[in-house]
Amino acid sequence: MAEQVVPGGRGRAHRRAGGDRRSRSEREIAASAAVAPQPFGTGELAPGVVTELSARVRRVIAPNPSMMTGPGTGTYLVGSPDGDVAVIDPGPDIAAHLDRIADVGAGRIRWVLVTHTHEDHSPGTDGLVARTGATSVGFGPRDGFEPDIAAADGWSLTLDGGTGPATTLRAVHTPGHASNHLCWLDEDEAMLFSGDHVMDGSTVVIAPPDGDMTAYLGQLERLKALAPRSIAPGHGRLITDPGARIDEYLTHRRARAAQIVGLLAEAGATGAGTVTVDELVARIYADVTEALHPVARFSVWAHLRQLAEEGRATSVDPDQVDAPWAPN
Ligand SMILES: [Zn+2]
Repeated sequence: MAEQVVPGGRGRAHRRAGGDRRSRSEREIAASAAVAPQPFGTGELAPGVVTELSARVRRVIAPNPSMMTGPGTGTYLVGSPDGDVAVIDPGPDIAAHLDRIADVGAGRIRWVLVTHTHEDHSPGTDGLVARTGATSVGFGPRDGFEPDIAAADGWSLTLDGGTGPATTLRAVHTPGHASNHLCWLDEDEAMLFSGDHVMDGSTVVIAPPDGDMTAYLGQLERLKALAPRSIAPGHGRLITDPGARIDEYLTHRRARAAQIVGLLAEAGATGAGTVTVDELVARIYADVTEALHPVARFSVWAHLRQLAEEGRATSVDPDQVDAPWAPN
């Protein structure tokens, strides 16, 4: 198959009730997955490459690598070799990618499961359903995605395994990166399809108001307690040390929150007594290229809102990214 590479970040702008005063680039960052730039996909992460991760799980990389998504979206096909197949995250609406998934599924795709409605995960749903006649499942309608079945936490599906074993996939509602985010747990292999809640090689963008740091961290703890044997992320390679990887995420976020508490205290003791998100970003990310500061603003803001919920920070308007903050 010819490899077609398209830049990420195209597609519908994400509309929100009540208007959205952010710039297009800010909206794109809010809807994107990762912060750390990664080399575009090569080897097993090259666009169009099919990788067998287990006897029942294959991954096809979508041709949408970019600074914000790292390697292209990982689309997963789950099911025994001659049984029914569920696709997890068809990815962007790119015909070559959807053709590839349908080919690999060889007429056995019965289900299309979606982790969340960001533009690199769900827009291929309708095209894949048109190619396969599959039934689509997601948390609920949003961003142009309208699933046949709205799945709440705990909803599950058992795939007929043909001559092989059956496979049960369970929805785990994991708000944080996106309020409508579902991880999918393969209960038989203890493999967790983590979408953008946990990814390989970078941290995850938490962009308020849809992104929520308190929920994100709570769900990380919950995923850790599920004790998956492996994590198949929406971006990057299979993670074979899930507990350690989740601990790294938690440690990183706790350290960042502590750093912000320290800077709030410093500001409270001097001068105006308040500090803004931009001032905090300038201090915390002094060594990081300014190109990433717009992403960092969301992260710092998300942490401040988390600290406000914990009674450790206060602002006249926590819903405004430019509002001043003080220690509490
Ligand atoms: Zn996302």
